[in-house]
Amino acid sequence: MTRFEILTIFPAFFTGFFAHGVVSRAQTRGLVEIGVRDLREFTHDRHRTVDDRPFGGGEGMVLKPEPLSEALEALGVKPLAERDPASSAPESVILLSAQGKPFTQAVARELAALNRVILICGRYEGVDERINDLYCDRELSIGDYVLSGGELAAAVVLDATMRLLPGVLGNEASSEFESFGAGDATIATDIEGVPRSQHGAGGLLDYPHYTRPAEFRGASVPDVLMGGDHAAVRAWRREQQLRKTLKNRPDLLQHADLSADDLRMLERVRKGLSAR
Ligand code: SAM
Repeated sequence: MTRFEILTIFPAFFTGFFAHGVVSRAQTRGLVEIGVRDLREFTHDRHRTVDDRPFGGGEGMVLKPEPLSEALEALGVKPLAERDPASSAPESVILLSAQGKPFTQAVARELAALNRVILICGRYEGVDERINDLYCDRELSIGDYVLSGGELAAAVVLDATMRLLPGVLGNEASSEFESFGAGDATIATDIEGVPRSQHGAGGLLDYPHYTRPAEFRGASVPDVLMGGDHAAVRAWRREQQLRKTLKNRPDLLQHADLSADDLRMLERVRKGLSAR
């Protein structure tokens, strides 16, 4: 079980997010615990001030270090310099920031292996950098764009990490069969309930999915999916994964877990595209 702690000046932001779907079910079933801390609870002035003007001048306000530091210490988080890695439980203190390292499925996997993940949501121009330096072992960005606050980013990190925890998705292995999932070699071969018509994604994007009706506005579901030939379905899906990855995210192919068959298929797809 992993515990997530979110530090924010807008705790109500998360109410709707926690009330639906996988996040809600995971909490009800005791597979994940989530705490939300209001930074204003850790202020001591009449106005419950959490921000102040930036030193050096310039636009906007900056989140003050004291409420964040108090909130972290209330959670038992010590400054990095005082932590003893040998005796402390596996956890991560994360600053959500547009200046952070990219948050990827690989990082989500690392976080899912920890006991506790603490997510600090910035606002305004950001968080006083001393909080990052003193307490945070990770600074993560969810993409190359600037959000108004870290709450959306925290929700993204929490959601992507939580669905990798054992038991959260209905099928133990289903996250491996999605975009960015692991390769076949790292997946147990006889997991109950796993449709054998699928491969581990091996770092590729997922294949396209279809449901009823078989005909929609003149567009048909590919014949192979209706034929009941599982080997043909599996081959078609793998080819589609390679096609989609080549088209939308060719960078992923460099590190994908590709078999000799995959490489041959990829070559065919590439030739087919260049012949057009
Ligand atoms: N001045 C900052 C900059 O240019 O990098 C932007 C601050 S932004 C308006 C306010 C807060 O939103 C940040 O402190 C951070 O917590 C969050 N944020 C914005 N973009 C983000 C991103 N791409 N990933 C994660 N958090 C982000």
